Amino acid sequence: MSHDTLFGKIIRREIPATIVYEDEEVLGFKDIAPQAPVHVLFIPKHEAIPTLDDVQPEQAHLIGKLAMAAADYARREGFAQDGYRIVMNCREHAGQTVFHIHLHLLAGAPLGHFGT
Ligand code: 5GP
Repeated sequence: MSHDTLFGKIIRREIPATIVYEDEEVLGFKDIAPQAPVHVLFIPKHEAIPTLDDVQPEQAHLIGKLAMAAADYARREGFAQDGYRIVMNCREHAGQTVFHIHLHLLAGAPLGHFGT
């Protein structure tokens, strides 16, 4: 599986990132342009899937792995009880810019509601 996106380069340590979480399947690193006091991206390490819409049934467990990694990180860092948000943008109308699926974890302060 090729990792020819920006996030592939982060996985291969070809460009720097502040890595805050890693397990067998998931890498978590701080977003370069944080939208909240805590803004971490969780990505699959071995599957370069462009969007959520491209996830195949046999890959569906990866979405759970990303969510569980975010929840583990929130507990470990001590803000799970205060709460947090996870977001996955899919394609143009959601503003997706990097086409290697990733889960945003946003936390650290009350977050505005979203919609429009
Ligand atoms: P998207 O808009 O595709 O859902 O999210 C992509 C995220 O990647 C954005 O929040 C953006 O700030 C972040 N990002 C873009 N380039 C880099 C980079 O080189 N390093 C890191 N750590 N994050 C990046």
